[in-house]
Amino acid sequence: MPAERHHRLPITVTPERYQLRLTPDLTTWTFTGEETISIQIHEPVREIALNAAELELHAVSLRRPGGKILAGGVRLDAENERATLSFAETLPPGAGELRIQFSGILNDKLHGFYRSTYKGADGKDKPLASTQFESTDARRAFPCWDEPAFKAVYQVTLVIDEGLTAISNARTMRETALAKTGKKEVVFADSMKMSTYLVAFIVGEFEAAGPVAAGDTPLRVWAVPGKQHLARFALDIGKASLEHFSRYYGIAYPGDKLDLIAVPDFASGAMENLGAITFRETALLVDGERATRAELERVADVVAHENAHMWFGDLVTMKWWNGLWLNEAFATFMEMLAVDAWKPEWRRWDSFTVSRAAAMQVDGLKSTRPIEFPVEKPEEAAGMFDVLTYEKGASVLRMLEQYLGAESFRDGIRLYLQRHKYANAETTDLWDAIEDSTKQPVRALMDTWIFQPGYPLISVEQAGREVRFSQRIFRYLQDGADGERKWHAPIFMRAGSRSGIVEKTFLLTEPEQTIELPEKSDWIIVNAGGHGFYRVRYSGELLDALKARWREALSAVERFSVVNDAWAATMAGLTSLTDYLDLIELVRDDNDINVWTAVIGSCHQLHRILDDAQCGRLEERLRRLFGPAVERFGWSIKAGESPLESQLRGELIGALGTIAGDHACQRRARELFELYEKAPESVDANLVPALVTIVAYTGASTDYEKFYHRFKSAQTPQEETRYLFALGNFGVPEFIDRTLNLTINGEVRTQNSPYLMRGILLNKRARQRAWSFMTAHWDEMLRQYPDNSIPRMCEGIVGLVGPEIEAEVRQFFAAHAVKQGAKQMEQHLERLRVAVLCRERWSAMLRA
Ligand SMILES: [Zn+2]
Repeated sequence: MPAERHHRLPITVTPERYQLRLTPDLTTWTFTGEETISIQIHEPVREIALNAAELELHAVSLRRPGGKILAGGVRLDAENERATLSFAETLPPGAGELRIQFSGILNDKLHGFYRSTYKGADGKDKPLASTQFESTDARRAFPCWDEPAFKAVYQVTLVIDEGLTAISNARTMRETALAKTGKKEVVFADSMKMSTYLVAFIVGEFEAAGPVAAGDTPLRVWAVPGKQHLARFALDIGKASLEHFSRYYGIAYPGDKLDLIAVPDFASGAMENLGAITFRETALLVDGERATRAELERVADVVAHENAHMWFGDLVTMKWWNGLWLNEAFATFMEMLAVDAWKPEWRRWDSFTVSRAAAMQVDGLKSTRPIEFPVEKPEEAAGMFDVLTYEKGASVLRMLEQYLGAESFRDGIRLYLQRHKYANAETTDLWDAIEDSTKQPVRALMDTWIFQPGYPLISVEQAGREVRFSQRIFRYLQDGADGERKWHAPIFMRAGSRSGIVEKTFLLTEPEQTIELPEKSDWIIVNAGGHGFYRVRYSGELLDALKARWREALSAVERFSVVNDAWAATMAGLTSLTDYLDLIELVRDDNDINVWTAVIGSCHQLHRILDDAQCGRLEERLRRLFGPAVERFGWSIKAGESPLESQLRGELIGALGTIAGDHACQRRARELFELYEKAPESVDANLVPALVTIVAYTGASTDYEKFYHRFKSAQTPQEETRYLFALGNFGVPEFIDRTLNLTINGEVRTQNSPYLMRGILLNKRARQRAWSFMTAHWDEMLRQYPDNSIPRMCEGIVGLVGPEIEAEVRQFFAAHAVKQGAKQMEQHLERLRVAVLCRERWSAMLRA
């Protein structure tokens, strides 16, 4: 057996159709099941191997085409999550029907077939059961060939209590009461041919909003009772994006209905099960009138993202987990496209720049990884669900789309989907399709971005009519390694001179390249439109020219890029902190939210890195920066302002009242929060998060009690998380300790606790206590929290800036390796290293 197949099932026998009948028991948290799998035997075998985990197999038999039935023996291999079925005689090639009876548990780890509870209107705990199979947990619900390439049809039947609802991938064919049992049998239609990780079934007291018709598809939003009034917004974007995608892909939606289901306990954001997409509540249910723009955007993003997967991922699926990035990168790209088309006033591609910057932050580390890498064991794929897969992946697809032209790119995608529908494909198949469709050397270009970690820093200088470009890898830690690496970077350039503006797009493929313009330019912007996944370093002369024409020559996205690149260069020690602080003075009069996001984000980082003595001077400077902007925007909505401006007002006030320590702002925020409590409609929703943050930041005991109560009695998922996470923003030790206790005492859902913990680690006044608490309760946290959330929680360690504590952190993780997150842990530790080095460098400078 070749090494790469060692962790995979043999391909001697393959499944074609599963008939699956499950009876969950929501009081004992167990289930029983039986399945009949139509299989094809491709060569003579005595054994059939498939996946099973935490299951007991009770009876196995195989029915041959003539009707002969053979009993099978079972050997379970818990470590490799496999069941080997053995038969007394050799099975010749041909068809067969495998019957298996089994039982399992509804676990509390939010994977496989799992349990969840919520408070009903009567105040009592209500049970429900849901599934989450990606990447390899279908095997916890039924024995199966649990690899994406074994596509099959699924016919699901659920036996449940009369009063409950069951949802699965396909439409309900019939519901039949089972006499005298108090139960009913719900039989679903056949699914399309698809991978095991996309199968889903959900059981509980669910109620639906809708259906609305999205083309020919009935679309519903499901939630536990009492929340249907929060479904309207998701129905709207659900319909709009599903229709958008069937047009874009040129293929009708492949399912027979589409259900969007809010599950009270959910490990990730959402899961693209065909026809039965599951979500955490904050990502689906929202009050369209009272939510902030950012909260609405989050729901729109996630719904559009999952809908995009119905084609890209579900209809065409990666052959193996190394191709996961393509699923996720593409769905992220399509999410932007659909939301941008639906609400152009949100300028979604502009704000995507912020996501791109987050990916560039991680990808500028030595411990980054290429987007695609070999995956042997499927659990290695767990490390792929990160900013490099989603945001870097989507960024390089966007860069390619802009380089080829939107229509050519789309035509390539259509060809790819047509060629591989109901089947599996690899990255190289996508480049083949786009090359066939566009006749451009796409593979050579994309290979440099997909298989190489990192990205280039492109330096630019002008000499007469010549513009000289050079590329070198960008790294926060400068050690000269990997200097030979180069990329095929699409350069989008715009230059202005007396005779007008010249635009030029070309491919930078060499370490150094020179181009000639008709005349010497007054200014040059490289990475026009901000689509390039690289940083630009302008010569002093070129940068001064841009600063002199800041608002007139540069679009908002371009101003964002200049600020963000300058901040990265500052963190990397290539630019001085003083130069950076001077540069951001240019933003003072800006009204663009993304430009300000770059500035505010960097100031938060700076505030976290500097010690308290130096922060005083920083705060003074930040008051001079944010103060006039807050004054200009005022504290209430102005006639005719855009939703982005309303959001920006909140961001500016939030920054002025916290990291800039402005007392007047803090007092005003408190007054407004009191007004909001009495008359919520008198305060703009976009301002509320800032008020809550500031009240917590400066908060006393009564505030803490109030927020705790509001968390417990919240009316929307957004409100619940807002007050919960605000409990991590208090600075008083007593309250910090109380919040820390909440992370493990069962009051907070395990889907949220790890993120609350991350927030406290990043709270400068709480971080030391948070670190002690986390290390003291580490085993408890590992036991309680979903596996995928542990490396995400640990991102909080980047805030533990100080040489002694850094050493302690390194020691701790050397002794407590994080399963499924080794790469991310390396990255967090390196980010901490970078921050500690910056603190040393900047302290010396600020003292001077
Ligand atoms: Zn996705």
